[in-house]
Amino acid sequence: MRWSGQELQTEQVGALPGLARLNNLVRSVQTPEFAGITFHEILCKSALNHVPGQSALPFGYTINPYRGCSHACTYCFARPTHQYLDLDAGKDFDSEIIVKVNVAEVLRKELAKPMWGRHPVALGTNTDPYQRAEGRYRLMPGIIAALADSGTPISILTKGTLLRRDLDLLVEASAHVPVDLAMSIAIYDDEMQQSVEPGTPTTKARLATVTAVRERGLDCGVFLMPILPFLTDTRAHLDEALRQAKAAGATSVLYSGLNLKPAVKEWYLRWLAREHPELVGRYQELYARGQYAPKEYRTWLAARIKPLIRAHGLERGVVDPATGGIRSSALPSSPERMPAPAARAPLPAAGLRGPGPVPGHSLENGPAATRRARSAEAPRSLISAELPLDLAPTLF
Ligand code: SF4
Repeated sequence: MRWSGQELQTEQVGALPGLARLNNLVRSVQTPEFAGITFHEILCKSALNHVPGQSALPFGYTINPYRGCSHACTYCFARPTHQYLDLDAGKDFDSEIIVKVNVAEVLRKELAKPMWGRHPVALGTNTDPYQRAEGRYRLMPGIIAALADSGTPISILTKGTLLRRDLDLLVEASAHVPVDLAMSIAIYDDEMQQSVEPGTPTTKARLATVTAVRERGLDCGVFLMPILPFLTDTRAHLDEALRQAKAAGATSVLYSGLNLKPAVKEWYLRWLAREHPELVGRYQELYARGQYAPKEYRTWLAARIKPLIRAHGLERGVVDPATGGIRSSALPSSPERMPAPAARAPLPAAGLRGPGPVPGHSLENGPAATRRARSAEAPRSLISAELPLDLAPTLF
């Protein structure tokens, strides 16, 4: 098996108590290249998660190859999920990373079942599939190939510049199934970005990834979320963010304000008290009634940002309410119109033998144009620059 041959310079046998309860733990390891991080390698029983009940459309599927995320965003919505493992939602979430080492193999079996309807599958709506661990475990090539081989549309949202490693494979996949990509880039102040998202690639590196995606002929949206009250919601910051996203080639921008559910709120306010103590009182007032900022603030934010999004020509953003990710350009208005299965040879998951850029290839041709034609058929009623408030699985 692919994980059995990995070289480990240090191995930590023994699991944390909550992880041990999972009874599918292979081993827990630490390596010098990932100082301060422990990887808990597990054998998952299923790869596809069905996200029920959030959409008028009866499907929403996600894959989460990792639990926990070394990108360590202080505002991360997924933090409480670590508490199910008797790990804490703060430091443990950033440094105790669960790795589903067999996820691609399990996924292939699930996709081969006759009942699989080739529903669009979203990655990156819980934890980031291109976080640093992916550089070591290389789970995404196998996942992308399995989805494309089965005729399943793919949607990926990430902060990870490691996405560039798989661009050849994604371009090749996009010739057979819709591939929808987006980068999450919320903070356009370098110092603040490194402080509030200490494990992430820089804003500049992520914008360069957007450009790299576009140069390969694929669309790439930008998720401008979360917008941090009193920190990144100034007109100047929002205008600059949109200017940079547009300059990088982003095809659309989606935004949302900060949500602070329990456990996330405590961790974020600790950061705020350290970095911006003068704002703690204002945040406590703003989030006194729950995890969402009050309607008055959201209305004010919408009135500020929507004209800017329009002015920068970045309106064409679509969220899938079922997953919180990018709405697949393949998503039909009814299940009966699901795409037909692709009949073709399997993709080279590890070989990255995808076609290079076509000489003279314009962004108006190729995969992007194909996707635009497909999305023209998609229902437009869900098009919105703002993430729906009740989108629980969404983190970015
Ligand atoms: S918000 Fe996304 S990138 Fe940041 S820690 Fe959470 S999962 Fe990772």
